Formats: sequence, structure tokens, C-alpha cells
Amino acid sequence: MRTVTIECHIGKSSDTFETPSGFLGDVSFLRDHFFAGSDGVINLVPRNRIPEGPIVGAQAQVVDALDLHFAVERLAANPPGATRVSRVALILANSYRPRKSVFGVMFDRGQPTKDDPNDALEFTATPREGCAIFVDAIQRLRHDPIEFDKEVEFTTVHELGHLFNLDHLESPPSFMATSLVTRSHNFDHFQFTHGQHGWLAECATNRWVYPGGSPFVPVSAENTPCRRPVVHSEAPKVDLRIGIENAVFACAAPVEMDVTLSSAADSAHVLRIPDRLDPGYEEFIVWITYPNGNRCRYRSPRRYCSPQVKLTLKPGQSIARDISIFAGAGGTTFATPGIYHLRAEFDLGTRGRVVSNEIVVEAVANRRLLTPERMALLLDPSVRSLLYHRRDKGGRNILPLLRHHLQADPQGVGANDIRYALVRTLYGRGMRATEAQAVRDDIELIWSIPGTLGRRQLHHLQTMHQKSIRDSKRPEP
Ligand SMILES: [Zn+2]
Repeated sequence: MRTVTIECHIGKSSDTFETPSGFLGDVSFLRDHFFAGSDGVINLVPRNRIPEGPIVGAQAQVVDALDLHFAVERLAANPPGATRVSRVALILANSYRPRKSVFGVMFDRGQPTKDDPNDALEFTATPREGCAIFVDAIQRLRHDPIEFDKEVEFTTVHELGHLFNLDHLESPPSFMATSLVTRSHNFDHFQFTHGQHGWLAECATNRWVYPGGSPFVPVSAENTPCRRPVVHSEAPKVDLRIGIENAVFACAAPVEMDVTLSSAADSAHVLRIPDRLDPGYEEFIVWITYPNGNRCRYRSPRRYCSPQVKLTLKPGQSIARDISIFAGAGGTTFATPGIYHLRAEFDLGTRGRVVSNEIVVEAVANRRLLTPERMALLLDPSVRSLLYHRRDKGGRNILPLLRHHLQADPQGVGANDIRYALVRTLYGRGMRATEAQAVRDDIELIWSIPGTLGRRQLHHLQTMHQKSIRDSKRPEP
């Protein structure tokens, strides 16, 4: 079954209220409830952008639908008129001007309504891409902090449920019940019903489900027939997944993509597959849709012509790679700011092709994320070459330059990417004992700043760290 990844960009309207505790971290409850509620079809990835500051105005206490529409444009930043979106917005605000007592609203209904008279095409063309919750209204009826947190979680999932065109349903218990005045719902309501599961699981193919696909015409989903595609048992159970650790990065950032090819644990076959999981080979294709809508194959600056080596993939096993995709044969991949969609395909030979999940990333203008010094460094062709090839190709000696830069400016966006390339380069050419120590220090520094590198990169670091310890214990010749 196809998984649909939708990013949920979360922002706060103003500075006039304390962020509810559920929104202080990675807001993982969103992903968990929708993943479980859609039988694994909806992968709703929370992007907590509250730390970026207020999106309506620092002192904007009460917001109306127009404020919320503009907030959605800023947060989700979907192309105008899109009829299917991979980014939705969730806004936290004090209260809603048209109805001060509501806990939340899915205002983006694709047609003007009494509380949202904004009928400009700009607001109606892409429906169901944003909703909001109102902390003052919840606070007023939930004084107890535990009750407050529970109601915030319930209302958030409820409003996002409307975003997938689900209607209110009072029984059996579910997230789509209307909230009570006196208390929050019991935990038996913290789930979707069987029928709602079936509805949400159609998110890959049904435009009445996926955000942007149709106006808000909600269904109870209680009598929805199961229209999920049949999975043919003879199809090879091979899964290709791609990922980029940080979905928002500067245009010049040295972006790495994690690629994993895995065989299902219950597969009956041991597969022999070409060892060609790299865009330098014909068999592996990365498709990139650019902000202007053009879809092109990513062309690797590397071209491999090597004999067909085959790898064995046993049931339950996987192969992982990390691929530098920030530079291609045509230059910088993410040269213009905007939204990029990426998908990969791998040719398994006689077993056909396997297509990956789609990921959506945003390249941001360099000056918005990088210091002037780091921007200059990351745009330097020799530095880019080293970051890409992880080799110091003679000429200017780039490594001391990077080292000096990191000493002067050890933190911030891009620091760990530079540090990672430095470590890989030093490690790749063989280290002296002093360098082994420096590499270890760098790796430990990277670990102390979590969430910046991909899984595969962290795995490499673990291996290099262990080896450098072994090397330093070896007596000097
Ligand atoms: Zn509702």
C-alpha cells in the first residue's frame, strides 16, 4: 500500500500565549494518531516552526479567517491553485474572532462561509490545507493543566481530521466527536473508527480525502466501502525508501539523501540484485520536480562503468546508502529557493522496477539561514567539490580552511555538514594519531548537536569513531 507523506507545518499566530506543552518538541502525537488511524497510509510529518516566531503579529490576540489564510500561505507555501498538496498548516492562536468559544476550526473549506467570507480564488482554489486551534477558548473550560493538554491534543487531531474531509461523528467514540463543555473526552475517543480508518487509508488515491483535492464536503465514513487496491502476492516484496534529514535547508547546503532498499521479512525469496544503488548508474534514477514544476532526472556528476556485481538480499535485510545530491552534472541541484519533490526508482532487472516514497523539501535563500562567512564558504567551488567527493583534490588545501572556519563559527546551520565532510575526507586518506584525535573530537561535537545529519551519516560516524579509537591504541611505528 502506498504511503502518503504530508508535512504538517505548525506555527503560532502571536507571542501572546504560552506554547502548550504538546507543541514544545517534535509533536509526535500527530504522526502517531494519523499513521495508526489510516492503517499506515498517512505519514503526517510534524514540522514545528513555532520557534521561528509569530506568523500573524507579535500582539495579535484574536485572529479572523483572513489572518489564518495568510498564515497558511506562509507556513504551507504551496503553489497557487494546487489541487493536491504535500504540505498543510496548523496554526495555534488565542481565539477566533467570528466565534470566540470555538476550540478549533478547519476554515479552509474551498468556498466562502459566514465566518470566512473570503472568496478570492487565492483562498478557495486549494481547499483543506490549513486549520487552527484556539488555546484561550480551551483554557477557559479546561483549568486543570492535564485536562488542558488532553483537550489540545484531541482538538488538534480533530481539526486535522476535518482536513481529510471527515465529518463529526458522536458514536462510536472517536476523534471526530464534538468536544464536551464540562470535561475532555475519555481516552477511548483518542482513535479513529473502523470506517474512518478505511476513509483515511484512501488518501493516496481519493481526491475527496487528500488535502487540496476537493472542497470541504465532510463524510462520516461509517459506511465507506473498502476500496483499497489489491496487493498481488507474487509481486516482489521489496521496498525502496528515501529521506532527507532536514526538509528545510539553505540552497547551498551539502544535502545528503538516505536511501534504503529492503526486503520484507515475510518474503519467500532471497533476491540477487545489482549493486547499483547510486545515481551514477543507469539502474538508479532520482526524479526531481523543481519549484517551477519541471520534472527532471537528477544527473550525477559521476558515471560508473563497472561490471555487474550482484548483492544478496535475504528476507528482512536491507541495504542503505547516503547519496550527495546537492551537486549534479548540471551544477547546484537546489539552486533556486522553493519546494522540491523527490522520488527514486530502482531497476531490479527481471523483477521489474521498484518506486520509492516521495519526499518534499524546501530550499531556502542562503542569506536567510547562513552567516555571510558560511555562505561564502559553501559557494566556493573548491569547497563544494570537497564536500561532494569527500576528497581534497590538490590545488588549494581546503581542509585547513574548513577547520579554521569551524573554529571561528562552530555552530549554526551547515556546521555539522561541513564537519562531516571534513571527517570523511580525513578518514578516507588515512590519519595520523593527532588527526585521529581531532576526528574523534569532531564526531563527538556532531553528536552533541542532534538532528542535523541523516541516519546513514550517523552510522558512518559511529564506525569511524570506533576505528579511530582502535588506531590510537596501536603503537606508533
Ligand atoms: Zn469539528
